[in-house]
Amino acid sequence: MKRTKIVATLGPASSSADVIEGMILAGADVCRINFSHGSYDVVVDQIKTIRDINKKLGTHTAILADLQGPKLRIGVVENNSVELIAGNQIIITTTECIGSANRIYITYPQFPRDVKAGENILIDDGKLLLNVISTNGKDEVKAVVSHGGILSSKKGVNLPNTKISLPCLTEKDLRDLDFALTQRVDWVGLSFVRSAADIIELKHLIQNFDQNVRAKVVAKIEKPEAISDIDNIIKETDAIMVARGDLGVEVPMQEVPVIQKMLVRKCLEASKPVIIATQMMESMITNISPSRAEVNDVANSVMDGADAVMLSGETSVGNHPTKVVEAMTKIIEHVEANSDIYNRDNEAPEVDLRNERFLSDSICYTAAKMAQRTSAAAIVTMTHSGYTAFKLASHRPKAEIFVFTDNYDILTTLNLVWGVRGFYYDKNISTDHTIADIKFILKKSGKVKVNDLVINIASIPLSEMGKANMIKLSAVE
Ligand code: PEP
Repeated sequence: MKRTKIVATLGPASSSADVIEGMILAGADVCRINFSHGSYDVVVDQIKTIRDINKKLGTHTAILADLQGPKLRIGVVENNSVELIAGNQIIITTTECIGSANRIYITYPQFPRDVKAGENILIDDGKLLLNVISTNGKDEVKAVVSHGGILSSKKGVNLPNTKISLPCLTEKDLRDLDFALTQRVDWVGLSFVRSAADIIELKHLIQNFDQNVRAKVVAKIEKPEAISDIDNIIKETDAIMVARGDLGVEVPMQEVPVIQKMLVRKCLEASKPVIIATQMMESMITNISPSRAEVNDVANSVMDGADAVMLSGETSVGNHPTKVVEAMTKIIEHVEANSDIYNRDNEAPEVDLRNERFLSDSICYTAAKMAQRTSAAAIVTMTHSGYTAFKLASHRPKAEIFVFTDNYDILTTLNLVWGVRGFYYDKNISTDHTIADIKFILKKSGKVKVNDLVINIASIPLSEMGKANMIKLSAVE
């Protein structure tokens, strides 16, 4: 089974049970619900469908609710098509109007106060470029068209040089978050994160919503400010997404590949999952096979060490949602079988008994090293919080990572994490019994075979559900 996970975005092309099941069977591990589009009724149906399929197939497909964040847009324009000509001047107003070549509306009330002369305004993923001449500081900004073209309604706006004063979670995000948490999604994505404070705020909201809700947070990295605060963001978040669509507009496009590699490396060091997103298989929105460059992009992301690669328009509105997942799986499987992406040489955890994670970090480090030295077939961890699974995965062992837990929620959450395959297990007789029983379950399901070496990690005594403090190497009989 492939180790790198696939995130598939749902949309009109992929909301039916047949298509969702087809994508899961083809290798989709996480379904992403993009709150920039769609209605709650549709989302309720999609979530029910995913959970029904999980029951039917015994899968643990995770659900990622992606909040729109302070996405800026222009309003409706005449006939849904207006030509902006280079050299012409245009007014951008915060008073709602039907846009023309002379005046367009922007959904950002503080825009004239935040923007300064000389700053750039990029529209429609940077296809159109305006340059600010002046602002009245109240409701209008005068700009000159620097790079023209056809403008259609409600296109996105990026302001890479402007210090945007909007909150990270808009009123819409707060409503969407409430809804997503009520639906008990596994992961919540936050768009346009600017600093670690945005993540701390979202985590507070999740905690205050309900003590039993455990949704984890994905910080979408798509603003230059986020790059400047990246170490703190990685420390606070549970995972990150390299959101290359907006990132490639907000920073010079040539910087994105280097940023991608830097983010993957930092996430691996911090044991936080990292998703590479946007335009990975874009041409398959219409075509039945990807371009050679796209194949390389997916393959290189796997080689870099990404936990997951993501499909957006390819599965949400594309013509071949199942085929694109199949194609991505083929690329991942080939790379994983033919390149050396395993056994990262992570630094050993520092001996520090004041660090409450020191014992379990050492156990995971040693388990990964032992697996490498003995060519063990599997590392099995028993976890309630999922911590050891995140930690083990960051060592990228060649041995399979099997997670046994009595915590259903963690099973789906962990489905995003590189290499992790989960099993529900709630027997609690004794450590010896559990280890023997788990090996029997793995053998019966064909995951390991006689004479395979298996490494078990657990916390003893089992009944205390404490942090991992035990490691055992044994052969399957
Ligand atoms: C992106 O910009 O790359 C991205 C994933 O964000 P969204 O699809 O939400 O615009």
